[in-house]
Amino acid sequence: MKTKNSQDLFEKSKNHIAGGVNSPVRAFKSVGGSPIFFKKSRGCYLYDEDGNKYLDFVGSWGPMVLGHSNKNIINAIKNQASKGISFGAPTKNELEIAKIIKSYLPSIEKLRMVNSGTEATMSCVRLARGTTSRKKIIKFVGCYHGHVDSLLVKAGSGLATLGVPDSPGIPEELSELTISLPYNDIKSLDEAFAKFSDDIAAVIIEPIAGNMGFIEPEIEFLQHLRKVCTDNKTILIFDEVMTGFRVARGGVQELFDINPDLTALGKIVGGGLPVGVYGGKAEIMNNISPDGPVYQAGTLSGNPIAVSAGTALLKQLSDKGIYSEMENNAKKFLEYTKKAADRLGIPFSYNVRGGMFGFFFSEELPQNFDEVQKTNIDFFSKFFRKMLEKNIYLPPSAYESCFISTQHDAEKMLKAGKIAELSLEEIKNEI
Ligand SMILES: *Cc1c(COP(=O)(O)O)cnc(C)c1O
Repeated sequence: MKTKNSQDLFEKSKNHIAGGVNSPVRAFKSVGGSPIFFKKSRGCYLYDEDGNKYLDFVGSWGPMVLGHSNKNIINAIKNQASKGISFGAPTKNELEIAKIIKSYLPSIEKLRMVNSGTEATMSCVRLARGTTSRKKIIKFVGCYHGHVDSLLVKAGSGLATLGVPDSPGIPEELSELTISLPYNDIKSLDEAFAKFSDDIAAVIIEPIAGNMGFIEPEIEFLQHLRKVCTDNKTILIFDEVMTGFRVARGGVQELFDINPDLTALGKIVGGGLPVGVYGGKAEIMNNISPDGPVYQAGTLSGNPIAVSAGTALLKQLSDKGIYSEMENNAKKFLEYTKKAADRLGIPFSYNVRGGMFGFFFSEELPQNFDEVQKTNIDFFSKFFRKMLEKNIYLPPSAYESCFISTQHDAEKMLKAGKIAELSLEEIKNEI
């Protein structure tokens, strides 16, 4: 496969853009090689600068639920652009999208639009602190909530480890307010509350984790989390930036019937344009300015074109049947690959919900970040490269989830399974 144009573009970009990319995972550091530069997308396919065509398992990290270049979304963008690009003032369309979001996620009584998932989680944390007059935040190791200072902390395992920042530039004084706990561990959660309950403003969680691979919580763990938050007057924040409109139309909260106090949305909600949303109980949201004292603002928030794209996507999700359809099609790939892996004696585990799935090179599905780190990450990198050579674009890291669309039909997914089998055989022969 020829990738010379992509390689040249990457070398040149490195002189002008920090690291050559505008978001780190795009640089292919963890899988090796040089990133692919894309110039076009249609349906379930991506087209690169060298003329290669790939079956896309990334879907722009979520938004392409209906595939790339969806006609209704493109028309909505064109139509709005012809009327006005940005006013910096309220529009009727913001009211419309707010109503649709609320109808899909009924735990949201009021919401605010922002411009990214990071802004959404950052605003949730400030609002929770402002509402409770408490300082500490609990998060879970391996959960990613954007590059917010106080959330960019994973810390060690064990009880209530005081947070050590994951990045220089985050003062320890700040990250010390973040308590990191292992995912799916009721005992350490109870211990943290026993020790700090009066000072825990919020617990933030990816209610299905998509940023340490795809890991589901045990239902009892989530139910228990909901209960301890209620008992301690701590605000429960579901970060559904990745899972909202993805694992089910109404996100994990619909799937497991557990309501948070606040929800952060992003990725999908803008239909591929930069949009984030946070919302929840009216009594909490009323604390946001101008009605309340907690400040949060955005010059381009609710941008008309972004809102038109988001609305056009969300309206097309009215039929919930698309989620089971995507799940069944994903299984065509996963079950075929699993069978091949079993035959070749390669440990392989997977999990899928709606249009989102993940797989690991391990006997058992991991339950938390520590267990993910024990899976065969090196094998993933080899697999990634083999699949890429055969025109399948996987997320360029073992710690990411895969996303498919309604355009990835059963036939294409089965074919992808056969390519996975070939890839596994090749790796096996090379070891
Ligand atoms: C991607 C992501 C974010 C951050 O969203 P950005 O739009 O990249 O700022 C936050 N939380 C979760 C769960 C995410 O997957």
